[in-house]
Amino acid sequence: MKHEKSRALFARAQALIPGGVNSPVRAFRSVGGEPFFVERADGAFLYDVDGNRYIDYVGSWGPMIVGHNHPGVRAAVAEAIGSGLSYGAPCPAEVTMAETITRLVPSCEMVRMVNSGTEATLSAVRLARGATGRQRIVKFEGCYHGHGDSFLVKAGSGMLTLGVPTSPGVPAGLSELTTTISYNDFEEATALFDDIGGEIAAVIIEPVVGNANCLPPREGYLGHLRELCTKHGALLIFDEVMTGFRVALGGAQARYGVTPDLTTFGKIIGGGMPVGAYGGRRDLMERIAPAGPIYQAGTLSGNPVAMAAGLAMLGLIQEPGFHDRLEATANVLCDGFEQAAREAGVPLTTNRVGAMFGLFFTDRKVDTYAGATACDTGAFNRFFHAMLDRGVFLAPSAYEAGFVSSAHDADMVEATLSAARDAFRVVAA
Ligand code: PLP
Repeated sequence: MKHEKSRALFARAQALIPGGVNSPVRAFRSVGGEPFFVERADGAFLYDVDGNRYIDYVGSWGPMIVGHNHPGVRAAVAEAIGSGLSYGAPCPAEVTMAETITRLVPSCEMVRMVNSGTEATLSAVRLARGATGRQRIVKFEGCYHGHGDSFLVKAGSGMLTLGVPTSPGVPAGLSELTTTISYNDFEEATALFDDIGGEIAAVIIEPVVGNANCLPPREGYLGHLRELCTKHGALLIFDEVMTGFRVALGGAQARYGVTPDLTTFGKIIGGGMPVGAYGGRRDLMERIAPAGPIYQAGTLSGNPVAMAAGLAMLGLIQEPGFHDRLEATANVLCDGFEQAAREAGVPLTTNRVGAMFGLFFTDRKVDTYAGATACDTGAFNRFFHAMLDRGVFLAPSAYEAGFVSSAHDADMVEATLSAARDAFRVVAA
């Protein structure tokens, strides 16, 4: 594969854009090497500026559940563009979007559109604090909720409940209000609530963790958090920016049958445009300005072109059997990865939840952050590059979930597995 044009672009980018990219993971720092620059995308494929083609399991980090550049989404965007790009005044598509989200995710009795997943989580936490009159939030090691100050925090070593910043620029006074505990640990959550339950405004969680590879909840874990929150007057926020409309039409809350107070969305609801949303119980959402006193706003929120893209995509994924087909694809793919690894003598475990999957270079079952971080990341990095060289693009980090779309057909899965059989031999060598 040639990469001259990508290399030249990356050199130009590095001179003017921090790290050469507009979002850190794109720079390939954790897997090594340099990123390719994309010229166009279609169906399950990305095409780079040097003319290389990749079967894509990143899907723009989640939104592209019907494949890239879907004609239905493109047509909806083209039609919307014909009527203008932004109005700064309400438009009909916003109402249709609110009706669609509240119908597909019944725990959302009302919804507010924003422009990214980060905005959605920031806004949901402000609402939780404003509505409960409490300041502390609880999150889980390995979960990512965007780059808001309250989330760039890890567990402190001394006073366990006081978080410390993971990024310069996050004020210690704010990070101390975030407590980070272990995902899937029932006892730790119980002990924390026994200790400081009355201080907690909200627990925010990725119900299936997609930012520490792919970690499904242990049976009853989400229900356990629901009970603790209800008992202690804290709100439960499901961050479904990644899982929403992906692990089931109604998201993780439908798949696991647990009802949060608030939910955050992004990715799929924008159809590839910059969109986020948060929604939940009516009595809470009515506290948001201008209905209530908790302030939140956005110049481009509810943008007509973004709404058109999102609505077109939400229309496509409501086709009967859509999510079952994607789940079947993910299963064939992951079974194939496991078999290919076994044949090459490489320890590998996979997790799949609907159209999300994770590859762990270990022979142990993994459902905790500690388990995910104990895997052989060196082996993953070699596998990543061996796959890329063979025209398959996996997320460039051992800690990111993979995604399948409805554009990944049986031939593409078989082409991926054929590349994997070679790539695992490279890892084993
Ligand atoms: N929440 C989760 C679960 C995410 O995966 C992400 C992004 O990957 C975010 C929030 C932040 O979304 P955005 O990158 O749109 O700000």
